[in-house]
Formats: sequence, structure tokens, C-alpha cells
Amino acid sequence: MGPDKSLAWILPPDLARLRVLEQWVLLLLEAIRARIAEAEADQRIAAAARPGAVEAPVVQWAIQYGIGRDRRAILVHTGDCRLTSGRTRPATLEQVRDALRQPGVDPCDICGAGRELGLTDP
Ligand SMILES: [Zn+2]
Repeated sequence: MGPDKSLAWILPPDLARLRVLEQWVLLLLEAIRARIAEAEADQRIAAAARPGAVEAPVVQWAIQYGIGRDRRAILVHTGDCRLTSGRTRPATLEQVRDALRQPGVDPCDICGAGRELGLTDP
């Protein structure tokens, strides 16, 4: 079965407009997730700056998105990977774990994100 039919009334009936909305929502989701990751990074910086605070890593993760129309996540990086591009956004651990559950998303071999996540052997 498709998605919850109770929301169907807010959607246009035609495929063309549905595709546009789909694209818009994906962009919005990407922007929201990047903002969440930034806000969480700010929180960690503030926490680390407090006297007596335990050392906390700052930006640990990033997700790289493809150039296709649906801009799917394709690679997961550590925050300091040198392979990251303009299509890479900061991400939380939760977001990278979610991303890796999608088909076609892999941990980056260069920064060893999979190893950091405990997914591959050292
Ligand atoms: Zn990487």
C-alpha cells in the first residue's frame, strides 16, 4: 500500500507537480539535516568550552549526496575527510547510520568512516 491516504488531500493529482514537490521536500530535508548537524556541533563546542568539560569531538560525520535528480546520499565520511565535496553536508551519527541503511550508500574508504562506525575490520 502507498503512504497514509489521510494526507492525500494536500497533494496535487498529477505526476509532474508531484515530482516537483518531491524534489522540493528532498532539498528541504537536506537543509534541515545540515542545520541540525550544525546546531548539534555548536552545542558540542559550547559544552567543550565549559570549565571542567570532557573533551568532545566536534564535527564527526558528513554525508555526500549524488548529483541525480533525487540527490540521494551516496557516501558517508568522517567530519575531517579530505575527499568531501560541495555536495557533502555535516551529519549526526544518527543521520549517517540512517543513511547507511539505504541501498547504494557506502562508507568512504579514504577516511575509513566504516571502520570508525565499527562496520568493517580495522
Ligand atoms: Zn571520506
